[in-house]
Amino acid sequence: MPRTTARRTKAVAVVAESHPPVVPKSRRALNFGGKWQYAPAPEAVVVKPDAQYELFIGGAFREPESGVYFPSINPANEKPLAKIAHAGGSDVDAAVAAARKALNGPWGKMPAAERGKYLYRIARIIQERSRELAVLETLDGGKPIKESRDFDLPQTAANFFYYAGWADKLQYAFPGRTARPVGVCGQVIPWNFPLLMAAWKIAPALACGNTVVLKPAESTSITAMHLARIFQEADLPAGVVNIISGAGDTGRALVEHPGVDKVAFTGSTEVGKLIAKAVAGTKKKLTLELGGKAAHIIFEDAAIDQAVEGVIGGIFFNQGHVCCAGSRLFVQEGIYSAVIRRLRDRIATLRVGDPLDKNTDIGAINSRAQLEKIQSLVDAGVAEGGQLLQTSCSLPAKGYWFPPSVITGVTASHRVAQEEIFGPVLSVLTFRTPEEAVERANNTPYGLSAGVWTEKGSKIFKTISKLRAGVVWANTYNKFDPASPFGGYKESGFGREGGVHGLANYVRLE
Ligand code: NAP
Ligand code: MG
Repeated sequence: MPRTTARRTKAVAVVAESHPPVVPKSRRALNFGGKWQYAPAPEAVVVKPDAQYELFIGGAFREPESGVYFPSINPANEKPLAKIAHAGGSDVDAAVAAARKALNGPWGKMPAAERGKYLYRIARIIQERSRELAVLETLDGGKPIKESRDFDLPQTAANFFYYAGWADKLQYAFPGRTARPVGVCGQVIPWNFPLLMAAWKIAPALACGNTVVLKPAESTSITAMHLARIFQEADLPAGVVNIISGAGDTGRALVEHPGVDKVAFTGSTEVGKLIAKAVAGTKKKLTLELGGKAAHIIFEDAAIDQAVEGVIGGIFFNQGHVCCAGSRLFVQEGIYSAVIRRLRDRIATLRVGDPLDKNTDIGAINSRAQLEKIQSLVDAGVAEGGQLLQTSCSLPAKGYWFPPSVITGVTASHRVAQEEIFGPVLSVLTFRTPEEAVERANNTPYGLSAGVWTEKGSKIFKTISKLRAGVVWANTYNKFDPASPFGGYKESGFGREGGVHGLANYVRLE
């Protein structure tokens, strides 16, 4: 990390008078702004992306017909990493045609158990390459290496392993029915978990016998193209998966393509609504996994240290670039001061900086546009009367960075309590009764996830039955398993990914 060129953030730690600092001096020194720092611990595996990546269509890499390429940037230093092919209309046509050919050809005729073997093979190669893929994921997306290494890659492989097992057991997933593939699936994914989102989409689609055209996000296409190489290495028949990089127009051309039978989208609610309109009136099947504004509820009887640790992980994981990030914290009034003190204590120890350093907790914000969006929402939060609590950590001079932030004094009408920030910013609100907590937590257009912290099992069940959220974690947060379904209520989308539920998106039942 270029600490020599470090600059101080402008933000000042501002906290209400009633919550004096409790961080002992010795612990504050852990902070980058303090005297003592961790020695650099750079990732030992050095991986250099290719200079240029092409489109993966019909089992081969080919140049885009238009000859247009766009740069992919390393958000930790703003330097271009590689040139990425931009798929235009005729490339989308070619990819959809290749997927159709594979569906009508070898893939469609293949016994289900054989399909499963391909998925197992892909999963094993991902495991073998996981170190190299983790480095590429971190370089292109900005997330800390310990997260891509310990979360993204193991989860990516686990999803292929899990759905491999279902390929020849669909009759048990849908007893008494015959499950047929839907056909050609057009899948569009975001930039926050590039490989994992690709796995969530591709693995169940292939297990059910479909073929795929996948469009990765513009700012994170590199690992998707390395995944394409793994498909080649696994001898996956040509055209079963096609990967077309590009921008929003490529995604639109794909979802609107008449040759696509099913659209699966993960991304913003705004684009999700456009896709829902585009698909309305057609025979296409649709699933949408959209934004979120998750609430944590900490009751007075909770184990506070454990709850604060869960809240910290829930909002600062992947720089808050997580659809289920717990960005609203509801604290029962009696423990408010204690929770704020611990939050402040804990964020002072978080290390922000070089994503390839193994000690880094918070890496780079994925793009300049996202950084500006986070800053403008935080500015609005302060302008509306919130009090900003930030560590005075030093940040590298180049790259896109945002320090871990907590805004107190937030009310339900503030923009920070309503809009998805998708960054490392936690808004804190209070409540008196369990009823009030549930009512306020549900007061959002979203409904993806929530966290409940209490030592009373009965209170957990009472609360979660009233929360309008697709996933609720109790006394833990952000726990994922391929066998467990994930998806939203309200404007967070519809359809479930993961588990048996995730198969239902990719079959026609007879
Ligand atoms: P986004 O702007 O909606 O983009 C998502 C994908 O859609 C990207 O590949 C994008 O391409 C493409 N796209 C843009 N315009 C399109 C159009 N008109 N038609 C078809 N495709 C289009 O979202 P994002 O900013 O990348 O991702 C962040 C959002 O994703 C957040 O709101 C987050 O909550 C949500 N998310 C949800 C989940 C979930 O499971 N619910 C998981 C992860 C993320 P470009 O990248 O080239 O613009
Ligand atoms: Mg990038």
